Amino acid sequence: MASVSLESIKRKFNNVTAIEDITFNIPDGEFWVLVGPSGCGKSTILRTIAGLETATSGKLYIGDKLMNNVPARQRDVAMVFQNYALYPHMTVAENIAFGLRMRKVDPKVVQERVMTVARSLALEHLLERKPKQLSGGQQQRVALGRAIARQPQVFLLDEPLSNLDAQLRDDTRAELKELHLNLGITTVYVTHDQVEAMTLADQIVVLNRGRIQQIGEPQEIYAKPANRMVATFVGSPPMNILPAKYVAGGFDVDGQVLPVSGDMQGKLHLREGQGFDLGVRPESISINEPRRREGREGEFAELVVEVKVVEPLGRETLIRAVLPGSGVVVNVQAGADVRPRPGDRLVLDVDLSKLFVFDTATGDR
Ligand code: ATP
Repeated sequence: MASVSLESIKRKFNNVTAIEDITFNIPDGEFWVLVGPSGCGKSTILRTIAGLETATSGKLYIGDKLMNNVPARQRDVAMVFQNYALYPHMTVAENIAFGLRMRKVDPKVVQERVMTVARSLALEHLLERKPKQLSGGQQQRVALGRAIARQPQVFLLDEPLSNLDAQLRDDTRAELKELHLNLGITTVYVTHDQVEAMTLADQIVVLNRGRIQQIGEPQEIYAKPANRMVATFVGSPPMNILPAKYVAGGFDVDGQVLPVSGDMQGKLHLREGQGFDLGVRPESISINEPRRREGREGEFAELVVEVKVVEPLGRETLIRAVLPGSGVVVNVQAGADVRPRPGDRLVLDVDLSKLFVFDTATGDR
């Protein structure tokens, strides 16, 4: 096993800068997830670590060895892609064994390794099948098995679950997590699915337009997003962004004033008249219930909205509403028993301790 370190890695394709100034250090054995919207540079970073791309500048280390000029096959990394190209003419067992056979590993060791891997991925009963006789999920597990069998220093996974249906994706995600706990191999995992990022990662790296926005533990990224991009990317349904103007003692949202604490007023001193983007997560908003607020009046602010769409999900109800003046959408996660109707006027309680304030121009919190 080994650590993976990137120091100011940059990759340009002609005049397009795919990634810029990428610096992070993954300690030995940790599971790191790279997330971000399409085109943000996730795959380019992964391919650079794998040796399938060459950095335009910067340094890449695996362990304490500088890897910039080391060919891919000598890096001792295993990569699993979204489209897990298995060898169609080989059985599952042969596919898993392939990398080891290429390395001239003793056939007895190969046999044992294949069995161990097959057991850990529940593939034992499929070992004699060919890939086309397998489901998508089974094929993906074989691709993972082929990578695991080699016992690489580093695992690189590029959206390995994205071709699976929802149920299978959940199951395989849990299996991956267990596998990592058992094997402890340093892993870099690329996804645009923030549930995968939240559930799998020791640390999440959020990227946008080729640059790192924030690195942190999942809960930290969720609770303390560095900027609007991170805040809206992580969380489902995403954080609401309400354009507001700071007026004496509060934020004017759509003509309704949300009062702010003395503490916040201090921070916003002299910013009267300035525009801000307020961030509030759907679960930090509730349907107005005066009883709950008794004795805690300063902690909530009322916001009046008009209901557009109501989605009962069993465990909870998602309400899509708009601010009447501007039509800005407000998503609310309410209890399962709450069933307003489209067109209803609703009074919401916004939990002021959960309010994020972003600079409208820079997006910084
Ligand atoms: P996705 O989630 O859509 O796979 P990504 O975050 O993995 O996206 P990359 O594939 O790393 O993004 O691409 C980053 C940027 O670099 C994009 O703007 C892409 O168009 C550009 N890019 C990637 N590879 C090349 C290439 N070979 N030639 C030119 N531009 C490229």
